Amino acid sequence: MSKTVLFKNRPAGKPTISDFELISEETPSPGEGEVLLAARYISVDPYLRGRMRDEESYIEPFKLNHPMESMVVAEVVESRNTNFQKGDHVTGMLQWKELQTSRGNGLNKVDTDLAPLPAFLGVLGLTGLTAYLGLDKIGKLRAGDTLVVSGAAGAVGSVVGQIGKIKGCMVVGIAGSDEKVRHIEEEFGFEKGINYNTAKDLKKAIAEACSDGVDVYFDNVGGEILDAVLANINKDARIINCGAISLYNETEIPVGPRPEGILIKKTALMQGFLVRDHVKDFGPALRQLGAWLKEGELTYDETIVEGFEKLPEAFIGLFEGKNMGKMVVKV
Ligand code: NDP
Repeated sequence: MSKTVLFKNRPAGKPTISDFELISEETPSPGEGEVLLAARYISVDPYLRGRMRDEESYIEPFKLNHPMESMVVAEVVESRNTNFQKGDHVTGMLQWKELQTSRGNGLNKVDTDLAPLPAFLGVLGLTGLTAYLGLDKIGKLRAGDTLVVSGAAGAVGSVVGQIGKIKGCMVVGIAGSDEKVRHIEEEFGFEKGINYNTAKDLKKAIAEACSDGVDVYFDNVGGEILDAVLANINKDARIINCGAISLYNETEIPVGPRPEGILIKKTALMQGFLVRDHVKDFGPALRQLGAWLKEGELTYDETIVEGFEKLPEAFIGLFEGKNMGKMVVKV
């Protein structure tokens, strides 16, 4: 038998465990040209919340009573496809199933000598690529810039800040706990961390931390934190709208200060970013991230939740700040 997590209910606010259902199914067997995959690590990501809404977006909404899906590192346990051998490890957009068959489309083999398996869902996967390419395409970092990043202790944010340090920037991170703030300062060498939950006046805290103003803001959270950073930007600042997790569970999007005045005055660029639009640049970006890892210039955190049945709990934990670095589930 093999377990599956189904999507059962479109949440109105924050997702709950009852929005998912764990079922057992017969073990699938691969047909001609197929492989049987055993999930080893499954990624849980904030953007999956968007797919739980029944609305048009850059990616299909999840269908009710169908399996959830996300990026997975799986092992080929049986192969009837000449491109894959038993024992190969692959990544791909796969269903939340312990075992599943695939024709191999969209699967990429991973080099297990390069890094431990979960890294291919984080620093050497989509979140590392998001950090690298978001900064490269929109941030246009220059040595000496002041870079601010929110979600700073998370999967994308922690890589963003470290790339900022590699490029010679002054880096300020915004995160949700003192422990996270200490971590980004002590482990990643950010000049300053700000706890947005305890800062009395976030706008002022950012102004104090960034005495020369903000040149680049990598926004993972949107909402009031974005408002507070915008109030501190320099002329020709670049703002990368990568994520807006503070709004993902809202039913009515709150309206903040309107940004156009400040963007005009500061001739600033604020641009949305989707990593999926840059697939042609994944190869060189991964080579650079891999080289920095090897040279010890880049490091990463993972929060590994054990047990396939913990997938919904781990996913919900993202909205409670339970992770340091990339949140993955070990099957
Ligand atoms: P993270 O590892 O950063 O995990 C989410 C973190 O968000 C939590 O740990 C929590 O940290 C923080 N958070 C949760 N709720 C709030 C809130 N209300 N206000 C502020 N912070 C909050 O996730 P990822 O690194 O995977 O993703 C980061 C962002 O990047 C997300 O918004 C995601 O959607 C986006 N993204 C966008 C991509 C793209 O192509 N555009 C690709 C990948 C990710 P804390 O304790 O600090 O609050």
